[in-house]
Amino acid sequence: MRVLLLGGTAEARALADRLVAAGVDVTTSLAGRVTDPRLPSGAVRIGGFGGIDGLRAALAEYDAVVDATHPFATTMSANAASACSAAGRPLLRLERPGWATRAGPLWHWADTHQQAAELAARLGRRPVLTIGRQQLAAYLPALHDVSVLARVVELPSIGVPPGWTVITDRGPYALPGELALLREHRADVVVSKDSGGQYTWPKMQAAAQLGLPVVVVRRPARPAGVATVHDVEPVLAWIAELHTGTGKI
Ligand code: NAP
Repeated sequence: MRVLLLGGTAEARALADRLVAAGVDVTTSLAGRVTDPRLPSGAVRIGGFGGIDGLRAALAEYDAVVDATHPFATTMSANAASACSAAGRPLLRLERPGWATRAGPLWHWADTHQQAAELAARLGRRPVLTIGRQQLAAYLPALHDVSVLARVVELPSIGVPPGWTVITDRGPYALPGELALLREHRADVVVSKDSGGQYTWPKMQAAAQLGLPVVVVRRPARPAGVATVHDVEPVLAWIAELHTGTGKI
């Protein structure tokens, strides 16, 4: 049983640990966006597959696929759905629940990054952006002239306006540090994706404690028809079922 695990998330690393411990032949795939990625247990391959056709060809080496990529990694998830369907490989999506049920009274939802930027511009003059490096360009028009603090894992390739400060850091984060970050910047609005999970939740708690509005970018739509679970345990059961039909690895 050879499992391809599309990763780049904490859940994918947790799943890889469990699969390796259970003796499953798992290969985690990373996009290669980060120069110093946190590596999971087991085999790792790094870099794109070359679209749907490239992934479909790569699937000759695997019996099943788990898509545990980030909720905003929509291209990879769509490619996985198409390639697995074309190659006849079972696919399961592992996705952490979003934060909608934990939304605070000062949350403002946005459907796109552009909308989030416009909302942030209306709500404050000292925004903290925690939306990643790849989408920063969408915030330039609306927030060009305000004092932005952007926190990213790796420095962006685009130039940013002189009033912006870009810092690099990587979660998990804790509440005291998040409070200090928002206070030091004198933040008046926070922008985040609906990433879900605990790793980056403390910034939402910090914003709530400081009475700051938060702009939250809604998750993009998922490919239809892909079975989805929210925890590692059901993935283990799914793989065991595929492997032996017993539900045990
Ligand atoms: P994306 O926009 O959905 O994917 C763009 C392309 O990157 C894909 O078509 C694929 O290239 C390649 N790719 C993406 N994930 C890959 C993986 N796990 N293994 C191999 N190739 C991959 O992806 P993204 O949003 O840039 O995210 C890239 C990675 O960062 C993912 O692993 C994701 O889990 C992680 N991540 C993303 C975010 C986020 O907010 N987007 C946050 C945290 C972590 P080919 O077409 O050439 O195969």
